[in-house]
Amino acid sequence: MSKFWSPQINDLVPYTPGEQPKVANLVKLNTNENPYPPAHGVQKVLNEFEADRLRLYPDPDASALINELATTLGVPSENLFVGNGSDEVLAHAFMAFFRQEKPLVKPDITYSFYDVYADLYGIKIENQKLNDDFSISLENYPSDNGGIIFANPNAPTGLALPLEQIKALLDRNTETVVLVDEAYVDFGGESAIELVNQYPNLVVTQTFSKSRSLAGLRIGYAVAQPHLIDGLNRVKNSFNSYPMDMLAIAAGVASLKDADYFNEMCNKIITTRENTRARLERLGFNLLPSATNFLFAEHKFIEGGELMGYLRTKGVLVRHFSRPDIANFLRITIGTDAEMDALIEALKSHPDMVELDA
Ligand code: PMP
Repeated sequence: MSKFWSPQINDLVPYTPGEQPKVANLVKLNTNENPYPPAHGVQKVLNEFEADRLRLYPDPDASALINELATTLGVPSENLFVGNGSDEVLAHAFMAFFRQEKPLVKPDITYSFYDVYADLYGIKIENQKLNDDFSISLENYPSDNGGIIFANPNAPTGLALPLEQIKALLDRNTETVVLVDEAYVDFGGESAIELVNQYPNLVVTQTFSKSRSLAGLRIGYAVAQPHLIDGLNRVKNSFNSYPMDMLAIAAGVASLKDADYFNEMCNKIITTRENTRARLERLGFNLLPSATNFLFAEHKFIEGGELMGYLRTKGVLVRHFSRPDIANFLRITIGTDAEMDALIEALKSHPDMVELDA
């Protein structure tokens, strides 16, 4: 607190990202990063980049990246907006679309940054409970709203909604923006990008941070009809004209060009995820189905916070959320097979862990 702050800043509750530890040799399964390197072309671009080019500002429109994305996704470039991570794209979307009289409707358990942006921009929130199986109940979302946002697949549950349910919502909810955050969609979800042409109020966001192994480069994007993209650009150009630096643009393009590598890495993670699920079940965990690069797992006898602390003593980091309705769960990022072996070994060493018969 400082008397020099603007008054609203005192009351902000900023987002707390998962720990980025300063010590080496930890098995890091706490922030949903990809354990594999980015596409080979990314390294090549970085090696060949001439520092002298950095004297100049980057392209404010990031056209090379937008055009390559248009080719990869099969959408016109007028339907695309890129930003410094999908977090920035989401922030601009909150500013551009959700500062309305009526509250923004969202699931009560979802990506916690939505509450932070709402707070920052003075947007009222109306939370909707998840169903008992942790699925999102879009059919109950009120028509009287200032916008709707949810993650699909949802985080931290990992559950995906079928596209028909999103279509049904869009058929009903025509007067405010519906934003579908698809940060994890490449690991098994159904993308709503194909609905963008049909629905003038749909915004879909995606990221290079998870499935493209580029969390450190900060690239996210939105797909929507041009009138919504114009709204995002108005906010962006009132905030920072150059959110995408030259390296991000060039390396992002290189990542998109290697579709085979992208598919191979996503499939590898999905295979490891399902193997890990079976191993965790044998150790007495209940797990939700996952369409993401993480598992949301609850042990039958051992409390979530305790298990997280125990794993940390064994050098394995996983994410735990203290809110009571999910306090028993751990969110475990899918790493390499060797990292998942280390997780399982650490769990087996817990004094109360009993392996069930296969
Ligand atoms: N949406 C969801 C659901 C996420 O989990 C994350 C990652 N924390 C993001 C968006 C933001 O990802 P990034 O800014 O790295 O693109």
